[in-house]
Amino acid sequence: MTTHNLGYPRIGNLRELKFTLEAYWKGEKTLAELEAQAREIRYRNFRTQINAGIELIPVNDFAYYDQVLNMSTLLGVIPKRFRQDRYDVEVAFRMARGRAPSDDGHHCCNHNHQPTGKPKAGYAGAMKKWFDTNYHYIVPELYDDTEFEITDTRLFDEVAEALALKQDGQNIDFKPVLIGPVTYLHLAENKETFIPKLNRLPALLEVYAQILQKLADLGIEWVQIDEPILGLELTPEWRQAFIDGYAVLKMSPVKLLLATYFETLGDNLDIASNLPVAGLHYDGLRGAKQLDDLIARYPSDKVLSVGLVDGRNIWKTDLYAALDRLKTAKAKFAENLWIAPSCSLLHVPVDLEVEDKLNPELKRYLAFAKQKLTEVKLLDDALNGKADEPALAANRQALTAKTHSKLIHDADVQARIARLDEVALDRAVPYAERVVVQKAKFNLPLFPTTTIGSFPQTQAIRQTRLKFKKGDISEAQYIEAMQAEIHDVCTRQQRIGIDVFVHGEPERNDMVEYFGEQLDGYAFTQYGWVQSYGSRCVKPPIIYGDVSRPKPMTVFWSQYAQNQTDKIIKGMLTGAVTMLQWSFVRNDQSREQTCNQIALALRDEVLDLEAAGIHMIQIDEAALREGLPLKKSDWADYLRWAVNSFRMTTSGVANDTQIHTHMCYSEFNDIIEAVAQMDADVITIETSKSQMKLLDAFVDFDYPNEIGPGVYDIHSPNIPTVEQMVDLIQKAAQNIPAERLWVNPDCGLKTRGWQETEPALINMVEAAKVLRKRF
Ligand code: GLN
Ligand code: ZN
Repeated sequence: MTTHNLGYPRIGNLRELKFTLEAYWKGEKTLAELEAQAREIRYRNFRTQINAGIELIPVNDFAYYDQVLNMSTLLGVIPKRFRQDRYDVEVAFRMARGRAPSDDGHHCCNHNHQPTGKPKAGYAGAMKKWFDTNYHYIVPELYDDTEFEITDTRLFDEVAEALALKQDGQNIDFKPVLIGPVTYLHLAENKETFIPKLNRLPALLEVYAQILQKLADLGIEWVQIDEPILGLELTPEWRQAFIDGYAVLKMSPVKLLLATYFETLGDNLDIASNLPVAGLHYDGLRGAKQLDDLIARYPSDKVLSVGLVDGRNIWKTDLYAALDRLKTAKAKFAENLWIAPSCSLLHVPVDLEVEDKLNPELKRYLAFAKQKLTEVKLLDDALNGKADEPALAANRQALTAKTHSKLIHDADVQARIARLDEVALDRAVPYAERVVVQKAKFNLPLFPTTTIGSFPQTQAIRQTRLKFKKGDISEAQYIEAMQAEIHDVCTRQQRIGIDVFVHGEPERNDMVEYFGEQLDGYAFTQYGWVQSYGSRCVKPPIIYGDVSRPKPMTVFWSQYAQNQTDKIIKGMLTGAVTMLQWSFVRNDQSREQTCNQIALALRDEVLDLEAAGIHMIQIDEAALREGLPLKKSDWADYLRWAVNSFRMTTSGVANDTQIHTHMCYSEFNDIIEAVAQMDADVITIETSKSQMKLLDAFVDFDYPNEIGPGVYDIHSPNIPTVEQMVDLIQKAAQNIPAERLWVNPDCGLKTRGWQETEPALINMVEAAKVLRKRF
């Protein structure tokens, strides 16, 4: 047995699970119907993997909602507020979604935002990003009364279900996937208690041992135990926990394949190599730097699984290059060398074949989950002297074609990148001088009011966009409708009394897609969905080639808005880092390089906006923080190029053109220096929920430029009162000079309705007026 897989997308080829889940939650489908759909997906996934030649197939990679939540219910880590006499799947759903059929949060920036205010009785568990992916898990909650105990039996049912599929003479087996005990504890959050998390390890291990015993009783030979925190920089206590923990699991009646991914092992290489388990899976792509080292060090009487088929990206594997890397491993490990994707395939779309609208040339360079399985098999066969020569040759041809492709390589972009050091990274003069000319030019009152960009995206707006996309209305009709919307939001802003206007973004479906669709080098799939959390999926664009801007992207709309009013219109762009972060990116050049290309395209847009009379321009960088690498030691390098890309985008404007940026859902403490280096004249951030706590970082750092700390939470339909907002800004003004403060909501308003937006903004403007009297 030498090919295996770590996990397969569970959402279904056409997002069947999503639709069935949502229908079930609405009461339109029964639990039996949901279960039937889930089983169908699992069976189909098994068949797909078997047909592709995968011998050891993952079980328990399926989840109705989330794999970490699966672990929590399996281990009995169920907060009191959800416990009931008998566990059932409803408990898990409540843990994920809250007791009340909640609105599922707000999704402007690929995050789930919990509602504000005092938590209600059955409030949902918090969500966090799974390492540096765009997948979100439900954070396990630990309380004083948390006791580990096998609670949810779904794992064992699914294992039995899978084993029943085994047929005589077939060289396949099933491998349950568990999140390892150390990673599970690391991800968990201590709630009321100060019991150090690691003190719970012994009790947790007892239950793991029981689980492994039960799996052995069912006839399981191998269990995959995921410990991705081995890719992080761990404290000595956590490293010791691996040694102590796995010493206990050594007695396990099943063989353990310890799985790490997303990173090198760094200083944990020794620990990982010496744990008493039967084998180790290693991400040979993200961990490329240490692969040879690991091959040299790992004992050859154990299994070493190497992942060189990218589970995080959508490109075809360079099979010959991979084989080259695997040869030494094969020589040492022989039958003990296993081949797999680099990590679970959860993070890539399911099947490339269904994409019939993609450029055929581009399609030739891509591989989604299903195609990646085939690559695993091709590698394994080649290593075992059964090379499929035609398939390998076809792979090489595709890779060669890609290297020379005109679709991917654009000489003009390359030439511009080659002269990158001619692009200034600094504005002409420092902020202290810019602010003087900007204040004189814009003549804004103290505490100027503005919004973050989008206004309510009404049903009518969405419908018009859809009709245009389908060709049901002409371009002229579409433009007219959007202009009417822009005119409308200008009138409303006038009536409300906002100081700096926006055009409202009615023409944008999504802040990345909108720009990606207009840039060369970007492609969009039809069905390339990836699970983000629960039933929510995202369809990241693919940055396949050199990025350039064939023509201005936003000038037409911003200029139209500016013609509607004497007030200042703030132009609105998505920054290069966010464009990069929420897309699949090229693997034939660095992220930095790709980011620079986007930044140059945006730079042109900024200059065109300025020339068209738009003298305030906001560049959203909602994803700056989530781009941080997993290892802290890599942060500085990332922040260097991320910040430079912003400076490159903005440095060309005149001193009296005002650059804004916006970041939501960020903690700033450890990146504040980089944020300051971006040198935006104004930054707007999300602060209302933290009661301005996020501002501390700016205060402590003596952040020199202007700040608009969000005064109300746009994720909630509640209308904030004047007093609430006055209080918040006053709090901010205790530490930040009033001349540097702006008044604005936390984020864009696109998911809100007008009935709450208008009164909220009226109160916000009133709050600014109150403050002006006091300062
Ligand atoms: N300008 C965008 C909007 O208002 C910003 C969204 C975001 O930061 N996520 O919708
Ligand atoms: Zn935002």
